[in-house]
Amino acid sequence: MSPRERDRRFDTVLIANRGEIALRIQRACRELGLRSVMICSEADRDAPYGATADEFVCIGPSAPGQTYLNQAAILLAARTMGAEAIHPGYGFLSENAGFAQAVEDAGLIFIGPPASAIRMMGDKIAAKRAMIEAGVPCVPGPDTALPDDVATIKNIAHDIGYPVIVKAAGGGGGRGMRVVRDDSALEDAVSVTREEARRAFGTPELYLEKFLEHPRHVEIQVLCDNHGNTVWLGHRDCSTQRRHQKVVEEAPAPGIPTDIAAAVGERCAEACRRIGYRGVGTFEFLYENGAFYFIEMNTRLQVEHPVTEMTSGIDIVCEQLRVAQGLPLKISQADVQTSGHSFECRINAEDPFTFAASPGRITNARFPAGPGVRVDSHVETGYKVSPHYDSLIAKLIVHAPTRDQAIRRMQVALADTRIEGIETNVALHREIFEDPAFCAGGTDIHHLEHWLSERK
Ligand code: ADP
Repeated sequence: MSPRERDRRFDTVLIANRGEIALRIQRACRELGLRSVMICSEADRDAPYGATADEFVCIGPSAPGQTYLNQAAILLAARTMGAEAIHPGYGFLSENAGFAQAVEDAGLIFIGPPASAIRMMGDKIAAKRAMIEAGVPCVPGPDTALPDDVATIKNIAHDIGYPVIVKAAGGGGGRGMRVVRDDSALEDAVSVTREEARRAFGTPELYLEKFLEHPRHVEIQVLCDNHGNTVWLGHRDCSTQRRHQKVVEEAPAPGIPTDIAAAVGERCAEACRRIGYRGVGTFEFLYENGAFYFIEMNTRLQVEHPVTEMTSGIDIVCEQLRVAQGLPLKISQADVQTSGHSFECRINAEDPFTFAASPGRITNARFPAGPGVRVDSHVETGYKVSPHYDSLIAKLIVHAPTRDQAIRRMQVALADTRIEGIETNVALHREIFEDPAFCAGGTDIHHLEHWLSERK
């Protein structure tokens, strides 16, 4: 073992997150024989996963800024509880390059990629440039920031061809974007987006690319160690969205020719090698007319990682913990074989059709079980859903040999799900899994919203 590898070994992991993902990470730690220490806010003091953690400490009030986003408090908790590594989960500090750096500067291990990789992918222009250099197919448009001069911006739009989309280099969460269909709207769209970007993302840098009218959202999961080994674990389709929020995910993305997917997967792996990536990551693409177009890379574990675990048989969180310790990947690309089909329904505490949040006490929770059924959830009967955080209370995941069988399995699993005392979107999922277009596979990113508007 080289000194560098030995240096990265750890026994105790601080989980700097909450909810289902905190429990998911805790379970992986326990399986690997690692100690898991967890922080929580006052609102999460009674979370059932506290009982199975090695330590569970409240670090502040319910507002995320004072707890799950409070870097100083998290670092202090890590020191106090003897943690040697920090897992950020998703959301919160997971894609904060400054936090990743602060963790490493404190002599701890950040369970994620190097801060430099997070920073690069957080700048969408830099990310696009890196992808073009690695041969990853991108949405047509320059990999440079827009100049100020309106005539030049118009020329760029003409070169791309309308419709185009103005995007903020620092944008995220579906914000900082504007579609432009002709010259007359261009100048205003650029100045409004620039102002919004300056305020919301701290940088006014914008770029322009082709707006694709009817794409699907298809993404590729990668896994990289510290020794230059990189594998991609197949693709997922996350086109079933509302307001850019994913509602249902599946793996594999239906109907994608194997050779096209393999070519893109290999380019993603190559991009990881070039930028010195480590850990898990996701390349998000728009997919239209048989072609992939890169839009962004997420440098963290994703909510929808279970569908890839079900089809690849690889425990992504355990692998993430192993590579963070400096261990080499046990698998090569040739070992990655995907089989069957998997779906995930995000069960949210919200009205199924108005989408109004529905916090409160769950008076009865009964989840489905049986072959090929998996539930990732931190809630149980008596659990109080807090209004302070996102509304995800469970992920219902199925796996079956074929897509049609997986649909049937999800229909049964949804029928067997009972959550009472609060509203949930289970009824919406039941309808989605009866929708002929969804069941046929390959619907685009606008399908769910069109379907919802017609349903009214
Ligand atoms: P964010 O970081 O805010 O999630 P993305 O670049 O991933 O931003 O884009 C979010 C969503 O915006 C995409 O999932 C897609 O629905 C839409 N979008 C982004 N770029 C384009 C494009 N070039 N054409 C069509 N839709 C786009």
